Amino acid sequence: MNALQANISGIIKSSVIDGPGNRMVIFFQACNLNCMYCHNSHTIGLCNLCGVCVQACPTQSLKIDTANKRIIHDTETCVHCDTCIKVCPENSSPFYKKMSVENLISEILEVKDFISGITVSGGEVMLQADFLVEFFTAIRKYPELKHLSILVDSNGNVGLDKWDKILDLTDGFMIDIKAYSPQIHKQITGFSNEKILDSIQYLDKKGKLDELRLVLVPDYNNGEDEINKISTLINKLSPEVRKVLIKMRKHGIRKKYTSLKEPNPEEIRKVQNRFKEAVISVFTI
Ligand code: SF4
Ligand code: SF4
Repeated sequence: MNALQANISGIIKSSVIDGPGNRMVIFFQACNLNCMYCHNSHTIGLCNLCGVCVQACPTQSLKIDTANKRIIHDTETCVHCDTCIKVCPENSSPFYKKMSVENLISEILEVKDFISGITVSGGEVMLQADFLVEFFTAIRKYPELKHLSILVDSNGNVGLDKWDKILDLTDGFMIDIKAYSPQIHKQITGFSNEKILDSIQYLDKKGKLDELRLVLVPDYNNGEDEINKISTLINKLSPEVRKVLIKMRKHGIRKKYTSLKEPNPEEIRKVQNRFKEAVISVFTI
């Protein structure tokens, strides 16, 4: 029995938008960026048991379990109003769970015949890299899971040593470039991007960069100089890397960021033209 556990905010047993084929997606809790346009801001932080959500719940469905340092959630009385998530001062949630490698393997075994792979996502999954080593090693050991590919969806904001730990256990990585300029990156995410730019180039050199994505945010990362620099970086990557331009959508973002603008068709077309054949598709999220 492995003692390591990960904080898991959710599992989708079947997805066709998180990598090729039909995939099970496992979302890890906690992130080391704080993007303005995050649609899942309740996966950014870890719960510190402050009790704000317990007080705010209109159906008294939450209780603090001090002994086990967790929140107990009564699913019978919960009306799924999301008040708890909205009031959490930590950008966290009372719903994420600690799960072991064995717990996750059981979930995969239930659906193994219907999926072609596993994608781990977040939050920022690489913050739990030691767990990933154990988890991916376990998947590779099961003969009945041999057909599954393993993809990692990451923000790239970790040191190169973290990638080395899991490179040989994965089929590829999907990384976001949120901006090229460190200043613009800081405006969008709260943090600088040196590690991310290094990670993108390192994973490409290792032949493991599967997809690079840019979320287009007008007035932030769509300036001419910024797009030229991102384009230069993109054009240096292997042709096999999928390059994806994503339209920023306001749906589900935090109230304080609702003044952000979604890109209009003309703004998207301009960037597509600049990227030319480097960008092969535009997804809307
Ligand atoms: S989920 Fe958020 S509001 Fe609720 S106890 Fe944890 S930190 Fe506090
Ligand atoms: S989602 Fe459920 S637990 Fe959260 S505040 Fe609403 S009723 Fe309470």
